[in-house]
Amino acid sequence: MRLLLIGPPGCGKGTQGARIAERYSVEHIAAGDILRAEVAAETALGRQIGGYISAGALVPDQVILDVVVPKVLAAAKTDGYVLDGFPRTILQAAAARRIAEEHGSAVRCAIYMKVPQEELLARLLRRADIEGRSDDKPDVIRRRLQVFTDATAPLIDFYAERGLLDVVDATLTPDQVTEQILTALPALVRARPVPS
Ligand code: AMP
Repeated sequence: MRLLLIGPPGCGKGTQGARIAERYSVEHIAAGDILRAEVAAETALGRQIGGYISAGALVPDQVILDVVVPKVLAAAKTDGYVLDGFPRTILQAAAARRIAEEHGSAVRCAIYMKVPQEELLARLLRRADIEGRSDDKPDVIRRRLQVFTDATAPLIDFYAERGLLDVVDATLTPDQVTEQILTALPALVRARPVPS
């Protein structure tokens, strides 16, 4: 299983990533968690990363390739992975695909977790009260949603064109979303990817 979950902030990628990874006994790699761990370690790189996260901006692609890709390659050497939050730009996707193909470990399937913007805004504002993340403030939330539309949404076509993508309705309950993903996966895993 080498799965990528694509979706806007607040769509439930973290929850579903953990569930699907557990079901398939593979590693769940959440780019945001890796970056927040770097921030918590208070390294120079962590301080730089923290600035981007708090502003709701993307961390530069090269930092992501240096920090996240080695973890994906390590996981791919075992039974596979469920990726959430990486890749988030076309440049990251193309670079990750090139590197992973050399190791025979490229993403085999992608799920787009679709939720309308108004619903996301409401969910993230609710989460802000509970979790107190540095990037869960109203203006930063709006910026993150815009960043998704501008930089990450093009990945939906990137994977669809390669025959790797399915879409689920992520407005439903977490259990229903898990069910949809588990139902979609066998056909996606069987499909032969279109060469990139
Ligand atoms: P997340 O936990 O996935 O919502 O990510 C939180 C924040 O981490 C994002 O708003 C970005 O600032 C940063 N981030 C996470 N993944 C990436 C990525 N693949 N590329 C650039 N920035 C990222």
